[in-house]
Amino acid sequence: MKVALAQFIYESNTFNSQEADLSCFDPRGIWLTEPAAIREWASSNRSQMSGSLDDLAATDCSTEPFFVAVCGTPGGRLSRDCYDHIRTTLAESLQRVLPADVLVLHFHGAVCAVGQDDVEGELLEMIRTELGFRGRIVLSLDLHANVTARMLQQVDVSTAYRTFPHQDFYETGQRAAQLCLESRSTVRTIAKIPAIIPPTATDHRTGRFAAMLAAARELESNPDIVDVSLFPVQPWLDIDDLATRVVVNAVSPEAGAATAQQLAEHWFAQRHDWDTGLIEWPEILSTLASPIGKPWLLVDTADATTGGSDGTSAEAIEQLWLYRETLPGPVLLWVVDPEVVQGIKIGASTVQFGLQKISISGEIIFNGECRFTPRGQAYQGQEFSCGHAIVLRAGSLHIAVTEQGCLCADPAFYECLDLDPSSALAVQVKSHMGWQAGYEVGPERGLRFDGPGCTSVNFARLPFTGSRRDLFPLSASSPNPIELWQST
Ligand SMILES: [Zn+2]
Repeated sequence: MKVALAQFIYESNTFNSQEADLSCFDPRGIWLTEPAAIREWASSNRSQMSGSLDDLAATDCSTEPFFVAVCGTPGGRLSRDCYDHIRTTLAESLQRVLPADVLVLHFHGAVCAVGQDDVEGELLEMIRTELGFRGRIVLSLDLHANVTARMLQQVDVSTAYRTFPHQDFYETGQRAAQLCLESRSTVRTIAKIPAIIPPTATDHRTGRFAAMLAAARELESNPDIVDVSLFPVQPWLDIDDLATRVVVNAVSPEAGAATAQQLAEHWFAQRHDWDTGLIEWPEILSTLASPIGKPWLLVDTADATTGGSDGTSAEAIEQLWLYRETLPGPVLLWVVDPEVVQGIKIGASTVQFGLQKISISGEIIFNGECRFTPRGQAYQGQEFSCGHAIVLRAGSLHIAVTEQGCLCADPAFYECLDLDPSSALAVQVKSHMGWQAGYEVGPERGLRFDGPGCTSVNFARLPFTGSRRDLFPLSASSPNPIELWQST
C-alpha cells in the first residue's frame, strides 16, 4: 500500500487585519516540496509528519511525503496570492506522487484566506474533485480547528491533537498512521456547540477539560467508535460557521450520533465554570514584590503571537516602567516593533515602543539575530526566528524588541538574546497556554493580564459581528443548542 503525506499548518485570527504572505512560510517557517528534504526535516523533529513516517516505516506500506508548509507564526487571513500559491503547490506536488492508495493530511483546520473562510475544506474538495483522488484520506487537525462539514465530507477518517498546551504533534502523526491501516469504513458526526471557550478552561491536564478528554478515551473502548476528538475552536474568527465541536468517527452512525450528542451536551452544560484566569495589575505587582523563587510568567493573553496577534502591545512595559528600580529581580519583557529595531540599528537615540508608542530609554545590551530552537516540551527540533532583535535594559527591566513574532513560547527565545530566564523574577510570554510546555511549568506560575491585541479572552471586548454574537458567552444560551451533522 502506498501512502502519500502532507502537512500544512497555519492559524488565522480574523481580528488581525494584516494579511499573511508567503514569507510566513518561507523563509520564516518551513516550506518543502521534495520528498527527500521532507524526510530529512521530519527525522530531526517531533512533528506530525515525523510520527506518521516513523510508524509507517514499521509496516509494509511505502511512503511518499510530498508537501510541508508550517508557518513561523499565526496571523491574519492568508493573502489571495499566498493561498493560491499554497493550493497550486499542494496540487502539483501531490500529482507528482500519485497514484497512491491513502493520503495522510496533517492540517490545522482554522485557516482563513481573503475570500475563503474554510481553506482546509476547499483544499480537501479540490483533491477529491479537481484531482479526482478516490483513495482513503486520513485527516489530522489541531484541537483549535473550526471543523466543517465540508472538510469531513471529503475524508474517510479524522483525528486531532489531545493536548493543550500542545505537546502531542508526534503522537497525533502516529495515530493518523494507524488510521491508514484501519480497514473499516466510518461515519463522521459533528456536534456543534454554540460557544467559544477561554483557553485557560481547556487545559488537558487539569479540571473539567481533562475529565472530558478522559471520557472521550473511555468512549473509544466501544468497538463501534474509532476516534473521538474535542475541538475548543480558535475563538478569534469572526466567520459564519464558528463553533466549538465534538467530532466522532464511528463504524455505526447511531453510536456516532449518540456519542457526539452526549459529550457535546455535557461540555456545554459546564459553560458557567469557564474561567479566563485574568488578574489585575495591582495583584500582579504585589506578587512580583515577593521574594524570587522560580520565575513568574507574565502572560499577555490579549496579544498572543501564538493565537494570531501581532505582538506589538507594550502593555507590560507600560505597567512596570514606574517600578523598574524597585522590582526585586530581573524582569524579561518582549514587544514586536520592527520600526524600533530598524531605528536602533541605524543609531537612533530616542524611540517609541509598541502600539502604545511609549517613550523609554536605557542601555542597549544586545543587537543581533533572534533565532532559536525550542528546548521545552513543544516544537522540539523546529527552528524559529523573530528576525533582528535588540535588548534594552532599564533598571530591572530587560526589554527584548524583535522585528516579528513567532509560534512558540520557550525559554530558548530569551536565551538566544543572551538573557537568562531561569534566574529572572518574571518573564513575559505572548501565549495563552503554550508557555507551560515551553517553560515546563504548571498553570499556577502564570500571571494573566488583559490589554490591547487580537487575542483577548475577554471576548465581549472584540468586534464580533453577525451570528457570532449568538455564541456563549457573547449571548445567553439557546434552549436547544446542540446541532448534529453526519457524513453521507
Ligand atoms: Zn492549537
